Amino acid sequence: MRIPIQNIMKIGLDDILELKKNMIIKFEDDVVMECNYKGIITFRYLLAFYKKFNIKLTSDLWITNNLTNGLFTNNTYLKIYSSIFKQLAKVSNRIMSNKAKLKLFKEYYIAIDTLNKKLVIHTVDYCLGVEVEDILKIQFDSRLMEAIHEASVNNSKSAIDHVYDILDEVMNDEKYRHNPIRLLYASKTVSIGQIRQLLGSRGYITEMDSKIFNIPMTNSFALGFKNIYDAAIESRAGSKAMYLSSKAIQDAEYMARELQLATMTIENIYRGDCGNPTYVDFYVNPDSYNSTGDLERKGDLPNIIGKRYKDTDGKEKIIDGNEKHLISTYIKLRMAIYCSHPDKHSICSACIGEIADSILDHQNLGHITATTASAGMSQALLSTKHLLTSASSANIRLDAAVAKYMLVRNNEKLIFKAGVLGKKIKRVYLKFRQREAWGLENVMNVKDIFSININKVSRLSSVFLVFESKRETVEIELPLKYASRRAVFSIDILSHIIKHGYNTADEEFYIIDINDFDNKRPIFMYDKVEFDFAALIKEFKGKLKTRKYKQVGDKYKSEYAPHVLVQTLFELINNKLNVNIALLEIMTYAFAVQDLTNRNFDLGRNAVNKDVVGFREVIDYRTISTSYNWDNLQGKVLNPVLHLPYNKCSSPMDTFLCPNETIKDEKQRQAIRNLVT
Ligand SMILES: [Zn+2]
Repeated sequence: MRIPIQNIMKIGLDDILELKKNMIIKFEDDVVMECNYKGIITFRYLLAFYKKFNIKLTSDLWITNNLTNGLFTNNTYLKIYSSIFKQLAKVSNRIMSNKAKLKLFKEYYIAIDTLNKKLVIHTVDYCLGVEVEDILKIQFDSRLMEAIHEASVNNSKSAIDHVYDILDEVMNDEKYRHNPIRLLYASKTVSIGQIRQLLGSRGYITEMDSKIFNIPMTNSFALGFKNIYDAAIESRAGSKAMYLSSKAIQDAEYMARELQLATMTIENIYRGDCGNPTYVDFYVNPDSYNSTGDLERKGDLPNIIGKRYKDTDGKEKIIDGNEKHLISTYIKLRMAIYCSHPDKHSICSACIGEIADSILDHQNLGHITATTASAGMSQALLSTKHLLTSASSANIRLDAAVAKYMLVRNNEKLIFKAGVLGKKIKRVYLKFRQREAWGLENVMNVKDIFSININKVSRLSSVFLVFESKRETVEIELPLKYASRRAVFSIDILSHIIKHGYNTADEEFYIIDINDFDNKRPIFMYDKVEFDFAALIKEFKGKLKTRKYKQVGDKYKSEYAPHVLVQTLFELINNKLNVNIALLEIMTYAFAVQDLTNRNFDLGRNAVNKDVVGFREVIDYRTISTSYNWDNLQGKVLNPVLHLPYNKCSSPMDTFLCPNETIKDEKQRQAIRNLVT
């Protein structure tokens, strides 16, 4: 019997909980399907909400369309909400006011909350218990045990990977369909890495300095340590976790505090369009895979969703994540750091992008941005034990062919050995693949060499060093890819290329003459992709803390242009986390100043000489009250430099120190806001 979906409404909220049989339901888009009773119960609680907002009860709202691997997880509600929101946005043509969105979200929350409260007393059906036997049943599967034994003989990465493949196969076996461990694995309630270590092989383990031990632990945790070696190396992982949850977490949290102090001056969102967008060239990196075909790093597209960009047809469009054609291309991205709204403490929602909708009007924009990014980092440190997987990144160890010509410096750059670029030889040139240096063409037009983000110009797996003399031409291939680390051209070689140009060869290659290249300067740099969160946080802080300044003529310039800093932070943090670029743009705007040369550290809104500075300048020289709050209060009070007139009132904290000036400033802002709206 087909039951129209509207009839479900007639069943009371308490009665529906007693439902124990599946039903065949007809939806409002005329789709008929069998729905299981647990789904119907959940659906009934959401129905009241759907009716309130006149949402058409179509089959795509049905719960099973929003499951993860066929199971109800904590993502399900979010997926349902996003399909409701899409339906409503389509009807209202994207002009849903913030207030309306808030109402929608609140009602949705109430519906789910009511359901969860009711379910508590009926939970038995919804609970899952795991027994030791469930774990052992899978552990002692003969296929898995055989693979683990093989790994203990071979002690290789491929053997460990094979164990994980077999574990996958076992988990997908029909005979374990109802095993709770499989359910946890399939629903991703527990991280796959954890299950792999519990039942597969513990894998490669790192020393505290991230150096990988040569021999892996091939047993699973369920099987236990095989010998004293296993126990000894695994104890290092424990030490690392202890270090990360104390010293490293202190550092991360202190950085979070500094970041909040620095960004607080950016107070709110102007809901509208400043009408004066600046677009920045942004290369959308694709997913990258390692040599064994595993996903090494997710592409950029999911982390720029909601941003506006200027398409090739000249129109401004919003990225919704489905623009596969933009992957591996340069796009013109609108950036919040260049917003031109007259109130310097606000950024317009058009420059920020759709993520502005998730930020409420009463929230301090800078603060929420800083906490969102830093909370992810601290959380990653705390759960580092859960994230442990078989280690795979390593220090640069030069291939013999490369070691003949080059040296590694600081585990991040390569320089030529003395004498390689000797004068006796007629010509020395470098040959490399065009597709691995996709950004070279763009670099040639760049006026300011320091505005180049080297990671967006090239990514080299290998290059050819060619010696050409009267008698012969010798070509040597230099492999440059180590573990997950790939080389890019350094700033020095890029300026050399800008000066001397490049040629194409054999259609597929570029060549550059390097006879004149200074052999003391680095030619290749390595992106830091060591997945060590403590190091990542340290590096992130380093990018913001101290800034190197270069003197160009009679002016001082930062080593990064503002949009390059945004992209550098983006590359770094999204090595492991997922942070939308809009948040990093807002954060970087807090570090942008009017005029570095003339020490005008006021927020760099509409500044001709806009530049980015470090924590010290932003906190100490922009506004004195945040400076007092930061550190060394006694020193600060007695430091006359901090009380010079350029130290303006621009933080909400100034209310405590100079209320008169702050009120005056606030009145001026009110006048500007009235002018705009
Ligand atoms: Zn704007």
